[in-house]
Amino acid sequence: MSDQLLSDQLQVLNPATEEVVATVPAASAADVDAAVVRATKAQTAWAALAPGDRARLLRRFAVAVDEHLEELAQLEVREAGHTIGNARWEAGNVRDLLDYAAGGAERLTGRQIPVPGGLNVTILEPLGVVGVIAPWNFPMPIAAWGTAPALAAGNAVLLKPAETTPLTALRLAELALEAGLPEGVFQVLPGHGPVAGNALVEHPGVAKIVFTGSTSVGKQVLAKGSALLKRVTLELGGKSPNIVFADADLEAAAAATPMSFLDNSGQDCCARTRILVQRSAHDRFLDLLAPAIEAVTVGDPADEQTQMGPLISKVQLERVRAYVDQGAEGIRGKAPEGPGFWFPPTVLTGVDAHARVAVEEVFGPVAVVLPFDDEADAIRLANATDYGLSGSVWTRDVGRALRVSQAVRAGNLSVNSHSSVRYWTPFGGFKQSGIGRELGPDALTAFTETKNVFISTEA
Ligand code: NAD
Repeated sequence: MSDQLLSDQLQVLNPATEEVVATVPAASAADVDAAVVRATKAQTAWAALAPGDRARLLRRFAVAVDEHLEELAQLEVREAGHTIGNARWEAGNVRDLLDYAAGGAERLTGRQIPVPGGLNVTILEPLGVVGVIAPWNFPMPIAAWGTAPALAAGNAVLLKPAETTPLTALRLAELALEAGLPEGVFQVLPGHGPVAGNALVEHPGVAKIVFTGSTSVGKQVLAKGSALLKRVTLELGGKSPNIVFADADLEAAAAATPMSFLDNSGQDCCARTRILVQRSAHDRFLDLLAPAIEAVTVGDPADEQTQMGPLISKVQLERVRAYVDQGAEGIRGKAPEGPGFWFPPTVLTGVDAHARVAVEEVFGPVAVVLPFDDEADAIRLANATDYGLSGSVWTRDVGRALRVSQAVRAGNLSVNSHSSVRYWTPFGGFKQSGIGRELGPDALTAFTETKNVFISTEA
């Protein structure tokens, strides 16, 4: 799309009703330039603060988020169609990340390395100005995954939210100021990817880009950033396996499967969208899975009972529809009709392992079931993808659980569970799912340069 055709306003729609929630001015490349100037100035003072003072301000920011948790969650329901339960978790995740990263400011220590003739120490210095480009699927948490550790390590942050979901990011920036973060340290630039996003990537004053989104745009970010030797962290797509062995607790595996790919309407880079089932348990597993899929409550995301809401946009709905042959065999749940971007929970069976729906990231409530024969076959199928973000292994055999976890080329695996994201454990992808890690105990280090200083004792 040519930049000239992009509107200077972003229209935010409620995906459950298609009503306009807000209209927000879109940042231009000139706005990005001005923000970089402000951030550069603010960063020097921010980095010079005592770690304890920086930590205190971030903890106050966490408290402000906590005090506005319900407001932020309701905003996320309106702009992204997330279920209210998920949205509350997401706002809480921002609070927890800020709190966790704040502690890191005080623990960001270098090393003392023995050398002859003096003292050798390493110092972890902030990079400067960091650009965080966030997607629409988890607008608040993913923004915070980059922002919180970058700030704690002494950087300034320019956050560009996705076109469809700028509202919670803008509210977070207001809360940061109310909590006492200095002007310019954390700025939000709502705008179009090819304009404001690209301006951040190409700006020589932005030292690092943290990008989460599609693999195709991620590759462009990496290519453009490399021209300036910019530091880049990429969190991209996934096509993750849910491997069910015949010796697993099949009831538990089937009960956990629906939300492993339907959470957030399947718009989740960790969604387990390839259900690999050992052939001897295949029919029994599908018999257990069918009622579980049909029981998923799809509807008004503001309703406390709802498990799955709409897709984010008409564009996304059409993308998802294009993957699913209406006549294909499988299991289908229910979805509302009328306004809103609704697609029913869908499990396709009898699919060729090379079909587009079996290899590409659909980013909707669609999974395929593929049978396998034995452990080696399961590993081969699990790894038959360009992606490598997450995956699950269901078995009662501990040795097998460990062997398969070691053999699957993915960054986040879970055994007899589908959990993959905790703010205090590392997260990121193998292969084309990304570069670098976020979260966990080393999150701050990714926003620093290591400087080695030798002090002679002989002068
Ligand atoms: P996208 O990659 O286009 O957008 C993600 C972010 O990048 C947004 O903030 C966007 O404005 C920005 N962006 C877009 N073009 C840019 C550019 N040239 N330079 C800099 N920034 C740019 O994703 P999308 O179009 O919103 O979604 C398309 C597909 O991507 C989805 O169907 C899904 O498969 C995948 N996706 C994955 C994730 C994930 O978490 N891994 C998130 C969103 C989308």
